Amino acid sequence: MSYLLIQNGKVIANGEIRKGDILIHDTKILDDNFAGEIPVDCEVLDAKGNYVSPGFIDIHVHGGAGYDIMDCTEEAFCEVANIHLKNGTTTIVPTAVTAPMEDIYEMIEVCKKAIDKCPSIYGLHLEGPYLSVNQKGAHNEKLLHAPTTEETKQLLEVGKGIICRMTAACELDNMQEFAQTLKEHGVGLALGHSDATAAQALEGFRWGFSHITHLYSATPSVRKINQVVTAGVIEAAYLDDAVTVELIADGNHATEHGLKLAMKIKGTDNVALVTDAIRPAGLDVTESYLGAKLPENRVIVEDGVAKLPDRSSFAGSVATMARVLKKSKTHYHLELVDAIKMMTETPAKILGATDIGKIQKGYRADIVLFDEDCNISNVIKNGRIVETA
Ligand SMILES: [Zn+2]
Repeated sequence: MSYLLIQNGKVIANGEIRKGDILIHDTKILDDNFAGEIPVDCEVLDAKGNYVSPGFIDIHVHGGAGYDIMDCTEEAFCEVANIHLKNGTTTIVPTAVTAPMEDIYEMIEVCKKAIDKCPSIYGLHLEGPYLSVNQKGAHNEKLLHAPTTEETKQLLEVGKGIICRMTAACELDNMQEFAQTLKEHGVGLALGHSDATAAQALEGFRWGFSHITHLYSATPSVRKINQVVTAGVIEAAYLDDAVTVELIADGNHATEHGLKLAMKIKGTDNVALVTDAIRPAGLDVTESYLGAKLPENRVIVEDGVAKLPDRSSFAGSVATMARVLKKSKTHYHLELVDAIKMMTETPAKILGATDIGKIQKGYRADIVLFDEDCNISNVIKNGRIVETA
């Protein structure tokens, strides 16, 4: 069926909530405020007064449904994409944790095949291995290192057209060259798992770092270095208006006040909400793994979050965007239009994507319907109604 009409919805568009019908033709939005005669051969979806939002865009996801993309199988990529799609994520950026370079290259090759089968996969995000040992979080310290010219060249060759984001620590050696090379290749470079001072971070922004990966997690603020009070990554992010940030809005990693401060300083245009979800996302389990299923990667799941077994650090979230939507109301007390913008339009802008993130004529028909309590009722991907969680 080539037409789909969504009737009786409260449409979230352009920072407003309005009543209106949306007509979809094939994979695109044909009319974002339809009032004409219903075409023959048109499927009608009654929104029953529910909200009609652009599909969610999650730019930082490691896993879900018991899979992690580091499993290096097409099945893993598609199962991860699927569980998040069922929970409203119509565009997903699978994210690789630090691993041996050979494993990363293998994972990239698998992603190239999976991307054709799973339309919600946008491209890859590499989180590591060029991260700070001091801010390693749950990344394997032994594998962290500074980039070399040779390795960068090889990585970009293997990942051409697939890697869309990279998270690195700008204070490591060779970072100026690295940042400039990535920029030339159109890869969005984010500062994260970094121990940089504000001065180092601001210099990194000049080299091409343009985004902060999970602000407040593995990004230092003001602290004493050799007895000298020194500002950090967070202050630098607030000082440079051009820099965008993402926060893990699972109700654990980012606090309400931290998120609201970011929104106040940077505006909803420059703050994205992400899940940073790992393998157990979407499942009800108490144990799982971060990255490959190896004994040293074991994590526990409690209080709605994944932690290292010794509880010394969070190890990623177990959220889906459906949970982020709920938490935006119950935990962060956000206006709905603000939350939706940070889950749709702003992450699209960060990715540089021009046909997703809005309900607008010509945009891709990626849409999520949910009720007053933020329970998702329908998910539409490329104009097709998909199964919901
Ligand atoms: Zn992550």
